[in-house]
Amino acid sequence: VTFAQLGLSSEILHAVNDEGYVNPTPIQAQVIPSILAGKDVMASAQTGTGKTAGFTLPLLYRLQAYANTSVSPARHPVRALIMAPTRELAMQIDESVRKYGKYLALRTAVVFGGINIEPQIAALQAGVEILVATPGRLLDLVEQKAVNFSKTEILVLDEADRMLDMGFLPDIKRVMALLSPQRQSLMFSATFSGEIRKLADSLLKQPVRIEA
Ligand code: AMP
Repeated sequence: VTFAQLGLSSEILHAVNDEGYVNPTPIQAQVIPSILAGKDVMASAQTGTGKTAGFTLPLLYRLQAYANTSVSPARHPVRALIMAPTRELAMQIDESVRKYGKYLALRTAVVFGGINIEPQIAALQAGVEILVATPGRLLDLVEQKAVNFSKTEILVLDEADRMLDMGFLPDIKRVMALLSPQRQSLMFSATFSGEIRKLADSLLKQPVRIEA
C-alpha cells in the first residue's frame, strides 16, 4: 500500500512526502482506514511503530474534510483532543501535528503542567482546533473555564497504559464526562491489562481492535 491509496488528501500527502516517508508502516496501514471510516479504534502499538502519524494523519483529514466554516475564527471550539501522559510525549505529538498539518489551516496548541498557565489560556481563547494535553493541566484549564469540549469530534488517548500507571484514571474520567457521546475515540496502548480493557469498554463504541 501507499499513503495515497489510503485515501488521504493532497495537502496531507504533500506533508508526508516532505518527511520522506515512502510507505505506511504496518500499524498505519491498519489504523488509517478505520479512523477515516469514523470508527473507534483500540490499538496496541509500541513507540517507534509510527503510531503518532497513524492517528495524526487521519485525524487531520477528518478535520479538513468536515471543516466548520460557519463559526468565526476566534470562536472555533476544540475539535480534536489528544491526551498523553507526559510533557515530552505531548510535545512530540504537537510537533507531529504541526508537521503533517503544515498545508492545512488548522490551529494546534499543546498544554502541560510545570509552566505558566496564562499563555495557554490565551492560546485557547484565540481558538485552536487541535489540543494536545497532559491530564492534570487540562483539568486546571477546564476549572478555569478556558476550554470548551462541547464540539469535540475526536478524542485520542495515547500511551493509555502509562496514563493509568501514573494515576491519571480519575482525571481521564472527569474529562470524558465533558465530551460529547457522539465523538470518535481512539486509544493507543503498549500493553492491554484488565484495567485498560475496562477503560476501553467505557470509552469506545464497537472499536476496531488492531495489533501491530
Ligand atoms: P512513532 O512510533 O509515532 O513515535 O514514530 C517513530 C518514527 O518513525 C518517527 O520518527 C516518525 O517520523 C517515523 N515515521 C512515522 N511514519 C513513518 C513512515 N511511514 N515511514 C518512515 N518513517 C516513519
